[in-house]
Amino acid sequence: MASIKATGLVKRYGTVKAVHGIDFEIADGEFVAILGPSGCGKSSTMRMIAGLETVSEGTIEIDGKVVNDVRARDRNVAMSFESYALYPTISIYENIAFPLRSAGMNADEIDRRVRDIAEKMELVPLLGLKPQGLSSGQAQRVGLARALVRKPSVFLLDEPISHLDTRQRYRMRRFIKQLHQQYHYTMIYVTHDQEEALALADRVMVMSNGLIQQMAPPDEIYARPVNAFVAGFVGEPPINFFDCRLARDGGRWTLAFEGQTLTLPERLSDKAAQLGSEALAAVRPHFLSIGANGPLVLEGKVFVTEELQDQNLVMVDVGKVRFTLVAHPSVRPRRGEVVPLTIDADHLLLFPQDNSRRIDDDLAA
Ligand code: ADP
Ligand code: MG
Repeated sequence: MASIKATGLVKRYGTVKAVHGIDFEIADGEFVAILGPSGCGKSSTMRMIAGLETVSEGTIEIDGKVVNDVRARDRNVAMSFESYALYPTISIYENIAFPLRSAGMNADEIDRRVRDIAEKMELVPLLGLKPQGLSSGQAQRVGLARALVRKPSVFLLDEPISHLDTRQRYRMRRFIKQLHQQYHYTMIYVTHDQEEALALADRVMVMSNGLIQQMAPPDEIYARPVNAFVAGFVGEPPINFFDCRLARDGGRWTLAFEGQTLTLPERLSDKAAQLGSEALAAVRPHFLSIGANGPLVLEGKVFVTEELQDQNLVMVDVGKVRFTLVAHPSVRPRRGEVVPLTIDADHLLLFPQDNSRRIDDDLAA
C-alpha cells in the first residue's frame, strides 16, 4: 500500500492546459473519488499518477519518493479503465493470469492468486469460459480481477462502471467498496457521477476546469460545499439557488428576496458581513419542508407535487423563484395551495453572487 502526494501538478497537451497546478495528499489505504464534469482533468490527473502521461510541471510522490521519472510498470500501480478489453481467444482464467505470467511468476503462485481473486469476485464458475459469452457486468469484474491479481499498492479506476445499467452499477459499486474493505488498497476512483463518488469514497476531490474545488469527506462536500460550483454539482435533486439581498438590521443580518425577509442565523453573520449587500443563497431539497418548522419561514405557492413511491418532490414558487423540496409520501399539497415553506437554518448556504459564474467564465477561456 502507498500514500500519494501531488505538488503544483500541471498537465499540458500542446497548448491545451488540462490540469492547472493542483496539490493533494492521499493517505495509505484511503479511498478517494475524483469527481467532476467531463473534460475537467480527472483522467489526466489519474494518468499522471499511473505514469501513463508525463507530468508537465510539479511532482508526484508515492510513499515519499518523487516518481515523475519512474516508468508506469515500476510504480506498482494498477489501473482499470471503462474499456477493459479482455483477450478473446483465451479463457477467463488465462485472462486473469496474464499479468502474472508476463511478470514471470511461477505456476503455483499464479494458480493460488487467480483462484483467490476469482473467489472474492464471484468469478469461479466462469474461469473455464472464453470472454465472448459474458455479460458486460461479468466482463467488467474479470477486468478488475486482472488488474487486482498483481496486488498493486495503488489501485486506480477510471469510470469503471459508467457504461453498465443501473442494477449492475449498484452491484459493482458494492464489489468495489468490498474490495477496498478487504484489501485496504489506496484507491482512486474517477467518476462524473456524484452519487457514486459520495457513496464510495472516504474523501471526494471535486474538480472543475483543471482545478480542485474541494477535497473533503462526502458529508462535508454535501453539507458544507465551499462554493456554488460544488453545491450545484453534488446532490440529487439539485440544490436550490436564489439571488438575495443582505442587510444589517440592528444586531442581526437579514436576507431578502421576492418581497420576503428572513433573519439569518447567527452562524451566517460573519459570512453576510463579508459578502456585503448581494449574495447567492442555496438550500438542498432535503432541507426544505412544508409547514412552519423553525425560524426561517417563507410563504410559497405549490406548483406541482410529483409522487414517487418512497418520497414526494414538491415544487413551490416563492415569487419567481421555484424551489424543489423532498417530502414524505404523505405530504401531497395541491397545485395552487399557499403554504409555509421552512428552510432548515443549519443548512442555509451563502455564496458570493458571482461565484458560479466565475467558474463558467474560466471554462470558456
Ligand atoms: P476528464 O477525464 O475529466 O473528462 P481529461 O483529463 O480527459 O478530462 O481531459 C481534460 C482536458 O484535456 C480536456 O479538455 C481534453 O480534451 C484534454 N485532453 C485530454 N487528453 C488529451 C490529449 N491526449 N491530447 C490533447 N488534449 C487532451
Ligand atoms: Mg476521463
